[in-house]
Amino acid sequence: MLSLSDNLSCQELVELVTEYLEDALDPVERTRFEAHLRDCAGCQTYLEQMRHTIRVSGRLGEESLEPAVREQLLEVFRNFKKPRG
Ligand SMILES: [Zn+2]
Repeated sequence: MLSLSDNLSCQELVELVTEYLEDALDPVERTRFEAHLRDCAGCQTYLEQMRHTIRVSGRLGEESLEPAVREQLLEVFRNFKKPRG
């Protein structure tokens, strides 16, 4: 069972992705990041997109990700998180 008390939200993951790719997260954050990633196809896609962007543009930065693309990905996350009940 997961013993992590706080689950990362997709929004938090998006905010941490740059640091993750720069290897700048502390071990706890990194563990939470990867735990979320394992269960979230939307964020896996997002991470792939970021890696691709870096490869193409040669640098990190959310600024290099077009706002429209970012919105589209966030939409994917929303659809992925089905409401319970
Ligand atoms: Zn997610």
